[in-house]
Amino acid sequence: MKEGIKAYSNVLELIGDTPLIKLNNITEKMQGNYFAKVEAFNPGHSSKDRIALHIIEEAEAKGILKPGDTIIETTSGNTGFSIAMVSIIKGYKCILAVSSKSSKDKIDMLRTMGASVYVCPAHVPADDPRSYYEVAKRLHKETEGSVYINQYFNKLNIEAHYKTTGPEIWKQTNGQITHLVACSGTGGTISGTAKYLKEQNPNIQVIGIDAYGSVLQKYHETRELDKNEIYPYRIEGLGKNLIPSATDFDQIDYFIKVTDESSAHTARELARTEGLFAGYTSGAAMQGLKQLDEEGVFSKDSNVVVIFPDHGSRYMSKIYSDDWMDQQGFMEMEPEEVSDVQYI
Ligand code: PMP
Repeated sequence: MKEGIKAYSNVLELIGDTPLIKLNNITEKMQGNYFAKVEAFNPGHSSKDRIALHIIEEAEAKGILKPGDTIIETTSGNTGFSIAMVSIIKGYKCILAVSSKSSKDKIDMLRTMGASVYVCPAHVPADDPRSYYEVAKRLHKETEGSVYINQYFNKLNIEAHYKTTGPEIWKQTNGQITHLVACSGTGGTISGTAKYLKEQNPNIQVIGIDAYGSVLQKYHETRELDKNEIYPYRIEGLGKNLIPSATDFDQIDYFIKVTDESSAHTARELARTEGLFAGYTSGAAMQGLKQLDEEGVFSKDSNVVVIFPDHGSRYMSKIYSDDWMDQQGFMEMEPEEVSDVQYI
């Protein structure tokens, strides 16, 4: 780089070191101090940049990946976007096997980021050769010099957050954090961050946010997968219908559940009150804070850190669309102050 020019070498240098932002208004009636770790400040607009970079760089360090090799994953969500972004900069091919449930917008976004996208039928069992799991596994076997990220069962997912998100929060709060509240999908974020923080101070309480329709909370209590817990829900990226080995349940004190409807409204409230345009699971995490506060979990001295995993722009046709909210039957709850549009 020419001397005197202040520039990043490429987008990957911007991964991590996301800001901690104080919540002032939405928390007004709640006990304690609340700080959001806003992961939308990553260049790929989500926390998944951290795991994409870490897993790929670990594979490079082990000599598994050489320039021109292929990275494979099963996701149409944030992880797919992050892997595609890292692949472009590092010169890898990127193959993403996605479900036919994925919106055209998402598929177009991944193709724009240079990924080859395989759209697989959504309504086949996971062990069907056409399922996105099986297609990814087959492509991995058939493609020499390929790495399968497998985020739900990859311990490096936990390690990425143990090495980055945890230390960042410890430093940003000057060691004064009392509670960590985070959504659990693969479980990588909450497990890795909690492991680091609890090593610094074992008294820090770690609370996971789960969805109604997911097995995580019940599994944490009983260590058994209860299939009766499983039913469809709308929040994407939160909860699961299987037990991911990227979740270290021992690092989590307990889980609480939030509804699709309250999470959607709370995400909209975050935009209106804090100017924070965050994703659906950020709304879920904030909703979790409200419920915990109502249960009396926090005191005036609590310093609560909540993780907001991604940006609101990915949800324009969902929670930020009044039509979508109406179709879900979510508009009957309480009237919101959404500004009108004036056509001239
Ligand atoms: N929110 C969103 C939007 C996500 O995509 C994910 C990842 N599935 C999560 C939350 C949960 O993060 P993690 O997988 O690290 O548990």
